[in-house]
Parts: sequence; C-alpha cells; structure tokens
Amino acid sequence: MNAVIKLCQATEIRMHFRSTQLIRRTTATLFSHGTLAILAACAATANQPGSVTGTVTQAAAQAYLDSYAAEYQRLYTTSSNAEWASNTRIVTGDSTNAVRTRAANEALTRFVGSTQNIGTIRAFLAQPQVLTELQKRSLEAMLYNAGTGPQTVADVVNRRIAADAAQTEKLYGYTFTVAGKPIVPNQIDSVLRASSNLPERRAFWESSKAIGPTLKPGIIDLRSLRNQTVQALGYPDFFSYQVSEYGMSADDMLQLTDGMNRELRPLYRELHTWARHELAKKYNQPVPDLIPADWLPNRWGQSWADLVTVKGLNLDSAFVGKTPQWIVQQGENFFKSLGFDALPSSFWAQSSLYELPANSPFKKNTHASAWHLDLERDVRSLMSVVPDADWYGTSHHELGHIYYYMSYTQPSVPLVLRGGANRAYHEGIGTLMELASSQRRYLVNRGVISGASAPDAMQQLLKEALQYVVFMPFSTGTMTRFEHELYSKNLPPEQFNAKWWELARKYQGIVPPTARGEQFADALTKTHINDDPGQYYDYALSQALLFQLHNHIATTILRQDPHDTDYYGNRQVGEFLKTLMAPGASRPWRDVLKETTGQELNAQAMVSYFAPLYTWLQAQNRGRTYTLPAI
Ligand SMILES: [Zn+2]
Repeated sequence: MNAVIKLCQATEIRMHFRSTQLIRRTTATLFSHGTLAILAACAATANQPGSVTGTVTQAAAQAYLDSYAAEYQRLYTTSSNAEWASNTRIVTGDSTNAVRTRAANEALTRFVGSTQNIGTIRAFLAQPQVLTELQKRSLEAMLYNAGTGPQTVADVVNRRIAADAAQTEKLYGYTFTVAGKPIVPNQIDSVLRASSNLPERRAFWESSKAIGPTLKPGIIDLRSLRNQTVQALGYPDFFSYQVSEYGMSADDMLQLTDGMNRELRPLYRELHTWARHELAKKYNQPVPDLIPADWLPNRWGQSWADLVTVKGLNLDSAFVGKTPQWIVQQGENFFKSLGFDALPSSFWAQSSLYELPANSPFKKNTHASAWHLDLERDVRSLMSVVPDADWYGTSHHELGHIYYYMSYTQPSVPLVLRGGANRAYHEGIGTLMELASSQRRYLVNRGVISGASAPDAMQQLLKEALQYVVFMPFSTGTMTRFEHELYSKNLPPEQFNAKWWELARKYQGIVPPTARGEQFADALTKTHINDDPGQYYDYALSQALLFQLHNHIATTILRQDPHDTDYYGNRQVGEFLKTLMAPGASRPWRDVLKETTGQELNAQAMVSYFAPLYTWLQAQNRGRTYTLPAI
C-alpha cells in the first residue's frame, strides 16, 4: 500500500477543529503618559482611528491587550463548553444546550465586534511605530475577529445573520428530485460514481443543479451584506478580508494559487487527457476535447478518484480484535515516540472518544473533531472510534490537531494568536499525521500489517492524483476565482453562470453537458459558496503544505521514499514539527515555513510525489491530442 492521503474531502469538505481563528475587552483603552487611562471617548469615534488624543505607549497597548485577552478567554471558554455540550449530549426535543450555545456565541461575537474594541484596536494600529511586532499581530488578529460581527454596523450584521440563516435553510431544506420523485443527495453521488448510463447520469447531474436558482437571490443579498460588514472595518471587500488572515492581499493570494496551478499543469494535462479517453471508452462515445460535467464521478468534478478501484489488502482486517482504546493509544504513542509529552489526563477524562451504547439516553455528533476549549490545557477530542483502518488514521489526525494546540499553548504566544499559522495549517498538520500513519513501512513496523502485502502502487498513485491533483484547479481556480469575482469585482448577477463555466473550462477543462444560460446558477450548488464563503483556497493550500512538509521530512530528515515512510521514534522529526507548530499564529507563516523547510509554499512537492505517475501517464497518452486550455 502506498500513502493513503485523506484530507477531509469527500463530497463536502470541512475543517474540523476549533481554535482562535474563529474569533476573539472591555473598555480599557489606555494611553497616555505611561499610565492607564480609560478612553471613554473611543466609543463615539470608533471608526476614526486617528481621532484619539494622547500619547500611545507600548505599555498602554499591552495593558489593553491583557485586559482584552482575559475577557476574550472567559467568553471563548464559555462558548466552547456550550458547543461541546451541544455536540456530545444531544437529547431529542431538549433545546437547553442549543439556547445556551447560541447565547454564549452571541456574547463572544458582541465582545469581539464591540464598537469600543474596534475603536481602540484601530487607534492603536494607527500608531504602529510604538507597537512591538507581537502587539501589532495581536491587534490585527483582533480586528480580523471583529469582522464576524462589528457592532459599528449592527444593523448590517443583524441583516447578514438573518440572511445567512435563511440561506442555510434553503440550502439544506431543499428536496432534490429526479423525474418528479424526491431523492437524497447521496443517491445523486452514487449514480455519478457508478452509473455508465449517460441519460441516467444526465438526469441526476441536472437534478443536482436545480437548487441553484433558488439560492441566487440570497447570494446577491449576502454578497452585499458580507462586503458591507467588513468594509466597516476598512477591508476592501469580503474576499480580501478572508485573505487578510494570511497577511496577504487578494492579488497576492491569486498569484500564489495561480502559481500552484501552473506548477501542476503538466501533470493535470496528462490526467485530463487520460480521463477523456477512459471516460469515452466507459460510455462508448467519441473522445471529447473537454470533459462533459455529467461524465465525472463528482457533482463539481472536484475529485475523479472514483474512476479507479485499487485492488489490494483490506486494511480493516488488521484491526480485528483490537479495542477502540488501543487505536487512540497508538496515536498517542506515535507522538510520544517523536518526543512529545503524554496527553494530559484531562484529555482522557473529558474527551468523548468512543461510540455511545445503543441504549444511550442521548446522542452525539459522529463527525471527528479536536477542541481547544480554554486556549490553555483543556484539549479534547470528539470521535466515535471503532477498531478499523479509518479510525486508526483519524485518531492520528485528530491528535495532530491536539498536539498543535499543546505546542503553541505557551506564555510567549498571546491568547488571541493561539491558532494555526494560518487557516490552512491546522488541517495540513492533522492530515500529515494521518498520512504518516497510513504508510506501508509504518504499518509494517508497528505490526499492523505483514511486510508481504503489495498492492498495485501505480494504480494507488493514480487514484491519489485523481483526488489531490484534480482538486487543485477546482479549488484554486474555479472556486477561488469565482468568489474573487463575486466579492471583489461585483460580478453582475446576469453573468454568474457564464463566469462559472468560463472558469471551469479554463482551469478544469470541464464543460456543461448542454448550454447552461443565466436561468441556472450552477456555482451556487456548491455549499461553501453559500455557508462557508471566500476561503475555499484554504483546502488547496493545506494540501500543498501537507505534501511539502511530508516531502521535507521524508527526503531531508528520514531519507526515505516519500511513498513509504516511517516517522516513528525519530526525534528529529519531532523537533521539526515542534519548531513549526510552537509559534501558532504569533509569527508570519511564510517566515516559519522558510526557516523550517527552506522553501516558500509551493506545489513542487506534489509534482515530485507524483513524478512516477507522470511518466506512466505520458506513456499511456502517447499519440493522443492534448486539448486542455492554457492558463
Ligand atoms: Zn482535521
């Protein structure tokens, strides 16, 4: 078995951890002459950072930051505990947890977005010459967090919250139909994965797109409200606001993502050509220049992994007879072997790690997640571990998040900067650990599988490329460019569909099966555009980062083949990870990456990981015409 890399990337992918990047006191604004003064005037002049009077000092800024942090931590912890209860103790018909959670979250949002805080933060940021780098970073993170609900434009925020809720209801309350009969989204996905019947595929694909027009008025409204909310804080637009979390402008981000696309283009061109021919054969059709969207095994063409089935070992049999506890302990042993501390006893006492008994009076969220409840030592995981290969990988993944929390929980990292180096990092680290735990050499050395097992490595690599490489032009191209057009360029509603398909053609080499005019709104069928907006590139960056870190560990530290590694017991790997994780968000992520790997974030590690496959594909495609548009 090769690497089985899993980013939380099924049909719908979501980040699944909770840390400060979500959000982030009170009135004390403190300037002047070395002593603390309460700046009551701040509330009235919130949007004019230069309007405060007096001398801003570093000590005054620190006093403000400290008082903010104390209140932030209190509200954050209350909110996390409420969320934890809502996710681990679900009693049908009992809304106590939901009410408590909502109130706690509202209190946190009100605080981080309060008019006084915004005014104070901006007043300090207007005097950067007196601030330390760390103070500046803290204030910038606080301003960013204020963007979740700035009370300076309370009316806009309230309308946005209502519009968000209405959109989510439409999104998840929609009934898909085929030939007048209601179907569930899973049926769409299984037909697209498995059916060779083109009329049937077309009917299910079109049914998946029928929801688009119902979501269009909501998105037009939300685009304006999302933009107005962050413009009140001085950000140019919502897309730029989301990107600012990386310390980058929208243009910087597009340059980064386009650069990755260009690096991967030769490989993607081979995959595209190979897939055109495979699919034409499968459906007994002439080979198309660009791939009809309803031919692909995914509604948006974001993963083509289901085009390949790899015969090989059934890893689940390796876990028969093991206990769920053993699975989680193996994860902890892995980190301890790298030189990390044991998990705190509170982790074992307070986490919700295993399946509930059938007669349990309550239910829990069965989706795995990792939690940092107080931004200090209270770390927990929510899982439903059973002894199989999936949970073995997932345990390593979730503990990756937990050890990341523990690494940056130290006095030198302010509370508001206890998060991943950027939004992509946490998931990149979690998935890196999952990848490490899935490699053949690790599994053999741990006694999980026998050294004799040898599935088809090229087919495995092909399947991985159809997931990871194919995802990049969709995420960094079609999705990112569409949302940039939507928020930064005010894309006219009568061009939504044309733009979406222009991008899909250019980046992915995919076309709609029939003409799709503006009566459709195919972009909006992607849930993230509605309820997780303006940050889809996170997934792509996290994936590139994962390959880059793994490649560095394999080739520079372990000197092993990146397709077949064993990190276990290597203290140097542990030191590398600690150096990378310890600063949290307190230092620019690009500096830390450069210092630890010697490189900027790029897709070269992906390119070299798939190099054997590239050669194989070139042989398969010999004599075929390449039709993928240039980018
Ligand atoms: Zn994760």
